Amino acid sequence: MSSTVGKVIRCKAAVAWEAGKPLVIEEVEVAPPQAMEVRVKIIVTALCHTDVYFWEAKGQTPVFPRIFGHEAAGIVESVGEGVTELKPGDHVLPVFTGECKECRHCKSEESNMCDLLRINTDRGVMLHDGKSRFSINGKPIYHFVGTSTFSEYSVIHVGCLAKINPAAPMDKVCLLSCGISTGLGATLNVAKPPKGSTVAIFGLGAVGLAAAEGARIAGASRIIGVDLNPKRFDEAKKFGVTEFVNPKDHHKPVQEVLAEMTDGGVDRSVECTGSINAMISAFECVHDGWGVAVLVGVPNKDDAFKTHPMNFLNEKTLKGTFFGNYKPRTDLPNVVEMYMRKELELEKFITHEVCLSEINKAFDYMLKGESLRCIIRMDG
Ligand SMILES: [Zn+2]
Ligand SMILES: [Zn+2]
Repeated sequence: MSSTVGKVIRCKAAVAWEAGKPLVIEEVEVAPPQAMEVRVKIIVTALCHTDVYFWEAKGQTPVFPRIFGHEAAGIVESVGEGVTELKPGDHVLPVFTGECKECRHCKSEESNMCDLLRINTDRGVMLHDGKSRFSINGKPIYHFVGTSTFSEYSVIHVGCLAKINPAAPMDKVCLLSCGISTGLGATLNVAKPPKGSTVAIFGLGAVGLAAAEGARIAGASRIIGVDLNPKRFDEAKKFGVTEFVNPKDHHKPVQEVLAEMTDGGVDRSVECTGSINAMISAFECVHDGWGVAVLVGVPNKDDAFKTHPMNFLNEKTLKGTFFGNYKPRTDLPNVVEMYMRKELELEKFITHEVCLSEINKAFDYMLKGESLRCIIRMDG
């Protein structure tokens, strides 16, 4: 048994002291895990837009000082009382939303929206006692979405950890703990394009390209990328995107452009931008009789979806998804296996790599729109 079990661990973490200010590498104290909690040594983490969004804290409740980070892979250091499914040495992916396996959602085959552990961006403490496990000189540093992976060690609820194949390379499969699974699952689990079909992807960021990767895996014959930024088109070719439409190049609505290109509409569409207009276009561009549109992007607070109800009577289907409909503990290990069998490619999502001390560079790359995913190695 490791000598750190039951003791406070002192380690490095990137702390966000204030909204929008560069993170500072600090020595933090990480308390031992309490009931149903696990202390994880984070090996590699990646930066996702959601970290940047809550770090900027424009319009949401600011929770600072805070340790961000939620796409990661690590190794279990010790477990708290009641934890039976994980033991020290297990390889895990932390996930921002959980699976308690007890609630109505977890017991339903159709849902992944756990009542107990569903994402909560306002909570900065652990469920067990309402306290943080991170501190500096006795002052609490708050958690983020139950994961806080920008720290060499983090304490995470057992329901937010997927146990994975220990042979899987952590610097690749860490991407499966958020954005890539979200896009991939939106296509494979929700849109379900038949082999040979035509799929439109709205938004060619990391999530949209993961949705395209799902369409490629499903055997779609045409994958049409829609984005306002033509610079994204070259990169998207690596993800199997066969055609591109920039709505700015056309005078008519993009749904009409797509309908003309596809003899009446695409078979499936996946919307990954969060723009309400893109959502409406993504729905209206699917073929009547069988078309299915899936919404993934997070809209603004006051947005309303407006379309003519005739679209529904004409048998177009509109769906939405959270985390690609994956149950974190049950399903993520299988997504890791898809990568191990080389069905799913992850390398092409990694455009940058830094060590923990350079974490602010990862923020710069993302803010400038230069990176799909920048991975951050904790041992540097
Ligand atoms: Zn549950
Ligand atoms: Zn994310």
